[in-house]
Amino acid sequence: MFLVQIDEEKCEGCGECVEACPASILELVDGKATVTDATECLGCETCVTVCTTGAVTLQEM
Ligand code: SF4
Ligand code: SF4
Repeated sequence: MFLVQIDEEKCEGCGECVEACPASILELVDGKATVTDATECLGCETCVTVCTTGAVTLQEM
């Protein structure tokens, strides 16, 4: 499985990752991207690619 993490310090709340995630597991909460169901992450790295602030990291567990 994959561990996707959002660095709240770096996230600007643009919502790009939320829109782009094919598994729809990212959501904006209080202006920050959050992971709603990490177990459904496909490990596609789309969120990492679209984030311009480098707030998203992905690790294979
Ligand atoms: S790696 Fe893909 S499936 Fe996982 S959170 Fe990012 S965009 Fe969504
Ligand atoms: S793409 Fe990056 S800056 Fe934009 S909401 Fe997602 S994590 Fe935050």
